[in-house]
Amino acid sequence: MKAYRPTHVAIDLDALRHNYHVLRETMRPDWRMLAVVKADAYGHGAVPVARTLEEAGADLFGVAIVEEGLELRAAGITRPILMLGGPWPGQEPVVIEHDLHVAVFEIEQLQRLEHAARQAGKSCFCHLKIDSGMGRLGVRDEQLDEVLRFFLASEALQLVGIMTHFALADCPDHPLTAQQQAHFKRALAKVRDAGLIPEYIHSSNSAATFSDVNGGCNLVRPGIALYGGQPFEDRTLPLEPVMALRTEIAHLKQLPTGSGVSYGHRFIAQRPTLIAAIPVGYADGYNRLLSNCGTALVRGQKVAVAGTVCMDWTLLDVTDVANVQCGDRVTLLGCDGDECVLAEQWAEKVGTISYEVFCQISKRVPRHYQ
Ligand code: PLP
Repeated sequence: MKAYRPTHVAIDLDALRHNYHVLRETMRPDWRMLAVVKADAYGHGAVPVARTLEEAGADLFGVAIVEEGLELRAAGITRPILMLGGPWPGQEPVVIEHDLHVAVFEIEQLQRLEHAARQAGKSCFCHLKIDSGMGRLGVRDEQLDEVLRFFLASEALQLVGIMTHFALADCPDHPLTAQQQAHFKRALAKVRDAGLIPEYIHSSNSAATFSDVNGGCNLVRPGIALYGGQPFEDRTLPLEPVMALRTEIAHLKQLPTGSGVSYGHRFIAQRPTLIAAIPVGYADGYNRLLSNCGTALVRGQKVAVAGTVCMDWTLLDVTDVANVQCGDRVTLLGCDGDECVLAEQWAEKVGTISYEVFCQISKRVPRHYQ
């Protein structure tokens, strides 16, 4: 649909390519990369992101749900696509028809997949997910023998991968990561001893890719770093933000001292105040918790959100911005000149992580690719 409103997300595909290469330079040359593009590529747009990364050399793609895999296939992505969350009952035929790889961790899943694969006369490509300590999805030690027996007996199921997921990869020195690594290595040895040789061995998200804990693996699974999100608190990696949220000033008004602004009058002008109304609100993903504490850039200058963020509108105190005018560009996320509002800074203010900031920018906001 044609976009008429000035509010938009700008996606910088050069920054995406840059981040891809930063990751590549960190990886050993023989490792492969599965680019995680689930949740519409963390809000950046799965199809343009996957196309850009396929061209750059990403080897596989990771999605959460079957619909995301089908969207990529429909867009012509031909590289392997792994459903990280595994298939729900009933999804097996479509998974097999479109050659989606699946994470598997339950005997019942294997039974259903084998049945569907036999019916289709095709193979099903499985990555065995080991729960090495995340406590989420994955096979526990006590179930591993039964799962391996199933694979050995099955012709339709191909064990092409084995994987795990770290719970604390962003704290590289935490002992849990070493424990998880050791657990995963034991599981891998058991799989090999059983005579099964998975091609893809993987455990590392972005943080783990940068932390040298990928030993014994041959594939990494970064998401957030591709989008310029900093996986560690010190924020020192040379990654570039890919997403910017921008709009324009729609309306300006001068208010006298003592005037209240927006719902609840949670902002009271302490001086003669120039207020700019911008057409962005919580329906666009501009979190209401940014009321009275969000930061935006106007004419390259930092300004503060004044009062409550509304569904479709936010008010800014632009009193100190010289020559401010209606139509001036406003940056709510990203950079304008030397100043930036980073996703991590936004996230801190609302008590979340950069991932959620990206994912929360709603579908109502058109994405512009450049
Ligand atoms: N692997 C799995 C199984 C995941 O669930 C995720 C993201 O949640 C990733 C990899 C990518 O993680 P990150 O975005 O931290 O790099």
